[in-house]
Amino acid sequence: TAQDYDAIVLGAGAAGLMCAAVAGQRGRRVLVIDHAEKAGKKILISGGGRCNFTNIGTAPDRFLSANPHFARSALARYTPADFLALVERYGIAWHEKTLGQLFCDGSARQIVAMLLEECARGGVDFALGRPVGGVEHGADGFRVAIGGGRDVPVTARALVVATGGPSIPKMGATGFAYDLARQFGMKVVEPRPALVPLTLGGDDPFRALAGVATPVVARAGKTAFREAMLFTHRGLSGPAILQVSSYWRHGDPIIVDLVPDRVEGWLREAKRATPRAGVGKLLAGALPQRLADALAEMLGLRGELANLSDAKLAAAEQALAAWRFVPNGSEGFAKAEVTVGGVSTADLSSQTLESRKVPGLYVIGEAVDVTGWLGGYNFQWAWASGWAAAQAL
Ligand code: FAD
Repeated sequence: TAQDYDAIVLGAGAAGLMCAAVAGQRGRRVLVIDHAEKAGKKILISGGGRCNFTNIGTAPDRFLSANPHFARSALARYTPADFLALVERYGIAWHEKTLGQLFCDGSARQIVAMLLEECARGGVDFALGRPVGGVEHGADGFRVAIGGGRDVPVTARALVVATGGPSIPKMGATGFAYDLARQFGMKVVEPRPALVPLTLGGDDPFRALAGVATPVVARAGKTAFREAMLFTHRGLSGPAILQVSSYWRHGDPIIVDLVPDRVEGWLREAKRATPRAGVGKLLAGALPQRLADALAEMLGLRGELANLSDAKLAAAEQALAAWRFVPNGSEGFAKAEVTVGGVSTADLSSQTLESRKVPGLYVIGEAVDVTGWLGGYNFQWAWASGWAAAQAL
């Protein structure tokens, strides 16, 4: 005979733990299954080990989805303030780093410990280190075979898919949610690596600058981010590039303002004010020295400002304000912090995250076609979507 639960949650990550804890505390009998031996592995490595657990600037426009309105309901009902209240109830010290990003002062381990304690308070059962064998759906609910030497199948009238996206397969990430969604006739929006470094290919003239970082405004299509950009030995990274990578498509250029604090005409004005000044020194005032040198070389800028024509300086201003990089790819799922795309929101209720086609089947967290910007937004979506589903279980 099978062991019966009210809900089985697949995936002991951010969304699954939140959902299980809240449902358990609402009196539901919940089992969480994960093939990893430990819960919350991505939480543990997040934010450089300090977990950027939310962003106080959370708003629907900071998320990508085929349906930009989908995340609105869940985000409105479980807010950054709600998660922060939980963090404070556990006495976890935190700080705002930049741009509304909240981090633990201590360690991401505190967030995982908090979620596990919340699960314990809800009487949640765990089957960790157990692969999911297969899922069947019948008249009285779902039947899940647990691999790894446990013979007894488990059943429940609700199944919550919280297995995340395929970014960082080395850590056990899989496209399991997509396979399961397809098994149940749901659509999957093409998954792509996001928040990922971009590569510039064989003839990248900036390769020698690996390690140089500079503040920029980087743009892909209509979306621009003002943050740091980092040259790497394979191409471009840093928060500005990670952010635009989510919007970038193969073949598109990334347009980068390398001198975001300089207004149009700045080189020509400097020529009037200080004609004897060297252009190299002027560039080095606006950019890191190695980058300034490389750009001066590429733009053919040498010597005193007085010896450079206004046309040449205007062209240089223009080039520096809108440098065109054409990435030949990204570093892929191996390095991507998240996945854009995923289980289509068209098949899900935005209130409950329940499938419209298969009653009792829920999809939450990164598995869904909702992806946040860099900066704590992805965890906020995991908490909010997990909480919303838990209200309906
Ligand atoms: P996950 O947390 O990925 O959990 C999915 C779970 O499902 C995992 O435990 C996995 O083992 C399990 N699983 C997968 N496949 C199977 C299967 N076939 N069978 C059984 N179990 C399975 N976001 C932020 O907001 N702030 C940050 O600071 C931040 N830092 C990050 C740093 C890194 C290096 C990475 C990779 C991501 C970071 N993110 C951050 C993104 C964030 O970690 C994810 O968006 C979030 O964890 C998604 O939550 P989830 O519960 O949907 O999925």
